[in-house]
Amino acid sequence: MADFEYLADEMEQLRHAHLFRRCRCIDSSQGPAVRMAQDGEKVLFCSNNYLNLAEDPRVIEAACRAMRTYGFGSAAARLISGTMRPHSDLENTAACFLGKQAALYLPSGWTANQAVLSTLPQKGDLVLMDRYDHASIIDAVRASRADFRTYRRDGVDRLERILRQGAYKRVFIVTESVFSMDGDCADVRALVELKQRYGAFLIVDEAHSLGCMGKTGAGLCQEQGILDQVDIVVAPLGKAVGAAGAIVAGPQGVIDYLINKARPFIYTTAPPPALAAGAAEAIKIIQTEPERREKLHQNAAWLREKLTAMGLDIGQSNTYIIPIMLGSSEKALAISDALYRAGYYVAAIRPPTVSPGTARLRLSVQSAHASYQLEGLCQALAEAKGLSSEVR
Ligand SMILES: *Cc1c(COP(=O)(O)O)cnc(C)c1O
Repeated sequence: MADFEYLADEMEQLRHAHLFRRCRCIDSSQGPAVRMAQDGEKVLFCSNNYLNLAEDPRVIEAACRAMRTYGFGSAAARLISGTMRPHSDLENTAACFLGKQAALYLPSGWTANQAVLSTLPQKGDLVLMDRYDHASIIDAVRASRADFRTYRRDGVDRLERILRQGAYKRVFIVTESVFSMDGDCADVRALVELKQRYGAFLIVDEAHSLGCMGKTGAGLCQEQGILDQVDIVVAPLGKAVGAAGAIVAGPQGVIDYLINKARPFIYTTAPPPALAAGAAEAIKIIQTEPERREKLHQNAAWLREKLTAMGLDIGQSNTYIIPIMLGSSEKALAISDALYRAGYYVAAIRPPTVSPGTARLRLSVQSAHASYQLEGLCQALAEAKGLSSEVR
């Protein structure tokens, strides 16, 4: 009889290399602190709930209202009978918010990148992506029929060399806005200049900047004043927006093409209408309450400064995503465990999520973190670091 014994060896190797992972269950709503199903209350420093909209009563109420009107499930794919008013309302709201002609709502950021990147770049085209782009971008590009090359964001000249060769029908440049594991930003202005000079398309995934940057919260490209130059924005809604799903925004012709051709859009059930309604409400709050962004940036600046003063290496971070570079997975895990015991939930990020030898803690700040929570974290870190000094 066939059995799954063959997996056990691999899992044992993972454990041995301090790379084994498991899910920890939370028994409360999201927020600056959460109640763990097993271990009581922890101050949370690893969610992407930057603006605390996941637990906002207005968002919850908008979702409940939609659920009472439209029911729970959508019961079909969007092109069959799954498109409901909250979906199209959200798409209109998002297109307006991002200053694009049209928008499409997909079940996740992962699916959105699949839809865009496995469909628009075609045979004979080239996709240029940042080496540190999110897994969903990399896997989507690999699934396309286009060629691809990677570049480093500190080496944009390589990008220019490739563009100058001009050996392809079309070229697409794809970047994240805020890099999710390093907390630094893409030089989107330099990318815009290149795309204009060489007639390439620019696609920006604003996963970690949507809501948190820009005058109305539309993201890094808005903040840098080049949003109108970006051809397509991918905007996952599971992070600062506090919902789930993702928006793809761009020219009407592109959105129509995706609706007709993108298999990750066509062959999946539409997200529940309540989710779309909650997301639309959150986008309204983002536009009208810039004080949430201000508080987030204040908290993050305080924490970056404090950690640096403590002698910790926060890499190139200049945002609310703050890595603490540790190198070994064992050390990252040991400090994460010690913090957890002290009441602070901070995930250890290890390979393959980051390159080998660059394991780290990754702190994500929230606008609702109170100063005593930020200070408490620093104190616990100082103690944990002392404890773990014998670990390599
Ligand atoms: C999180 C993330 C995604 C995936 O979005 P989901 O909605 O969680 O599937 C895509 N791109 C980037 C850059 C991300 O950080």
